[in-house]
Amino acid sequence: MVNQDKFQILQNECSTCVKCSLSSTRNNVVFGRGNPHSKLFVIGEGPGQQEDEQGLAFVGRAGKMLDSAFLSVGIDTNEDCYISNIVKCRPPNNRKPLANEVKECLPWLNEQIELIKPKVIVLAGSTAVQLEMISSICQFFTHHIFCEILQKKKVNQNG
Ligand code: SF4
Repeated sequence: MVNQDKFQILQNECSTCVKCSLSSTRNNVVFGRGNPHSKLFVIGEGPGQQEDEQGLAFVGRAGKMLDSAFLSVGIDTNEDCYISNIVKCRPPNNRKPLANEVKECLPWLNEQIELIKPKVIVLAGSTAVQLEMISSICQFFTHHIFCEILQKKKVNQNG
């Protein structure tokens, strides 16, 4: 169970971050969305236009596709997982985050992972998949957690 106070403090600190130049063009820091108490953590590349405007992760077209794909196997992205990105501020014109931006922003993600302690990390997008350290964690746990979530849904539906 994530420490809610620490998670909120982390989010508050991140919301004013100016560690890289993306801070000068963003509208909002996009810390994430979903349930930080869940065991599934989805990591994308970075916020797009709608995410930047709303301050929420994966609410644009890609987010709707993710919602729909997960829902097809019984996973509600707001209840059953937490979603965030490698960089928390939108790169201009949706370009790929630069290496120095990723480097500056990764400590936020690492702290999110440490607090949430997910059993599965799903990497969405090439920037996320290229991060080999996260990728190896993902491969280790994937089967177990998907079975667990689906089982929970089945029990709820039957009960
Ligand atoms: S992208 Fe990350 S490191 Fe850069 S300003 Fe935003 S929160 Fe800070």
